[in-house]
Amino acid sequence: MIDLHCHLLPGVDDGSKSMDISLKLANDAVRDGIDYALLTPHHMNGVYLINNKAVIQQTQEFQVELDRHKISLKVFPGQEVRINGDLLTALDQDDILFADEGGRYLMLEFPDDDVPSYTSTMIYELMQRGIIPIIVHPERNAKIMKQPDILYDLLNKGCLSQITAGSYVGIFGHKVQKFSKQLIQTGQAYVFASDAHDLPNRSYEMSNAFEKLENQFGIEYVSQFNENAKRIINGDNIILNNFSKVRMHWFKLF
Ligand code: FE
Repeated sequence: MIDLHCHLLPGVDDGSKSMDISLKLANDAVRDGIDYALLTPHHMNGVYLINNKAVIQQTQEFQVELDRHKISLKVFPGQEVRINGDLLTALDQDDILFADEGGRYLMLEFPDDDVPSYTSTMIYELMQRGIIPIIVHPERNAKIMKQPDILYDLLNKGCLSQITAGSYVGIFGHKVQKFSKQLIQTGQAYVFASDAHDLPNRSYEMSNAFEKLENQFGIEYVSQFNENAKRIINGDNIILNNFSKVRMHWFKLF
């Protein structure tokens, strides 16, 4: 499996705090069936900033340690980029890392409880540059949970979406779990990722999520999600889903 979103790089954000912890998480990842991991430290989220050259260098150093400890995980440098007003300038300055080497797929994060009003303008600007934003964990965004059409509209504009494996198996509670299922059901989900941090009671849930996906939706979904992850990391075209809106029950509007 390919994991497109995790915080395994030591000491750079709220993920792993040390090399020892990173190696432990990498072991967990391999045990869960992950072969390739895109390392995506938070970038420009108001707390963490990590220069792309630093990510590249530290990823190489981490790979050396992984090899030395005979942990069969191949890691790639990436970033989880928070949407912000300086993003276009950062892109102009070549300070952003993508999910693929060619600079096509951008792992884009919103604040936990908001989708800023300038989002559609920003998405338009990104698309104009040939960048396809992958909205990370929309199923955990409080505003999207209340107004699912926000995500539907972004997907219609050409964005993709990444559901966190733990969300789908219930780690973040019933509401998030249910919404994850609805997004998959309506074709509004493209890939799973771990979003692994070093947190108590949070383990890799990728194989659990895929097992559940197969049981609930069938093996084709499993193949599709895996294929999408591969295409994203390779910078290849994705076959877009035929998605529909999440239906809200009337009483939930109040
Ligand atoms: Fe993350």
